[in-house]
Amino acid sequence: MRTVAVTKIGSLRDPDEQTRGRIGLVDFPEPTLGAEDVRIRVAYSAICGSDPHLAEGFFGTEVPIGLGHELSGVVEALGENAYRNGLRIGDRVAGNFLRFCGTCTPCRTGKQQFCEHIQDYNRPGMAETVTWHESQVYKLPDGVSLLKGCLLEPTSVAVRIADKTAIKVGDRVVVCGGGPIGQLALQVLKMNGATSLTLIEPIAERREMALRHGADAVIDPIAEDQYRRADEITDGAGFDVVIDASGSTRAVRGLLDIAAKGATVVYGAMYPHDFEMPLNLSDYLYLKELTLTGVFVSPYAFPRALQILPHLDVDELTLSVFELEDAAEAFAMHVSGAYPKVVIRCNNLDDAAVRS
Ligand SMILES: [Zn+2]
Ligand SMILES: [Zn+2]
Repeated sequence: MRTVAVTKIGSLRDPDEQTRGRIGLVDFPEPTLGAEDVRIRVAYSAICGSDPHLAEGFFGTEVPIGLGHELSGVVEALGENAYRNGLRIGDRVAGNFLRFCGTCTPCRTGKQQFCEHIQDYNRPGMAETVTWHESQVYKLPDGVSLLKGCLLEPTSVAVRIADKTAIKVGDRVVVCGGGPIGQLALQVLKMNGATSLTLIEPIAERREMALRHGADAVIDPIAEDQYRRADEITDGAGFDVVIDASGSTRAVRGLLDIAAKGATVVYGAMYPHDFEMPLNLSDYLYLKELTLTGVFVSPYAFPRALQILPHLDVDELTLSVFELEDAAEAFAMHVSGAYPKVVIRCNNLDDAAVRS
């Protein structure tokens, strides 16, 4: 089955073609269908902000590295014991690229994100088909199109971020980074009663998108003094909930200074292995009592992501669609930043009758 893969390790942003990473189509064998497995014909698979990190060798340097974990599709085959979900052939589905085994100690103690077998079913989904364990698969609501459905996984990350904020209705909230996760987190936190909801983002189109979807204020961290603006927006109190969805090593340190006393700061992105952020423990943990936390994957979040997906306005995240054959161009578009999200159509499975 044809699969989008990293075929050469290197930064996709490298101006030198000799050292630049490369994306191509590779023919991988289709995994055998286990008794509890579901084979999905993939409709759409979205490029994630983490995919270029895979091209840089973040999780290993042996190529080819199959890509794709934000996908939707149609059930094509069911293993003989894949009945617990009530799935039928032809169902429109999306899901979690990770399988939590349910049996190891982390799984049995409410920490399935640390499942010791988490990689067993992590298969590339930017492909003609993907074969998952039935526990990974969720049927899409009738009103959610396959195109919108491929955003279930990033929506689950936004839900997980909201969980980690422990937000209370009325909390002042700032999100740093207006990429897909930042935009989704913004909408999800709005539903949770966020006030003074602010996006920090240097790209004007992304700030405008946030304002169209519930942000009360935006800050351009290049042209404006973000500390002064944060003071204005929060009447000098700072933000009760601070979220980094940018992964920017330049941005993360300053977020501690716009956090209110007692605030929760969620570092909700991926960061370079060797990046260390200076942290004055007296100022930020003793005097200010900040809670700092992060997000690895999204345990226990998919059922709720499925509940809210119909209520999110994400049309602007699915405007750029490329065919599977044009994956390299799709990644070039992603890297250009012209669209907040780029989607690859892996098969043409028309569900145009479904309104998103
Ligand atoms: Zn992702
Ligand atoms: Zn486990």
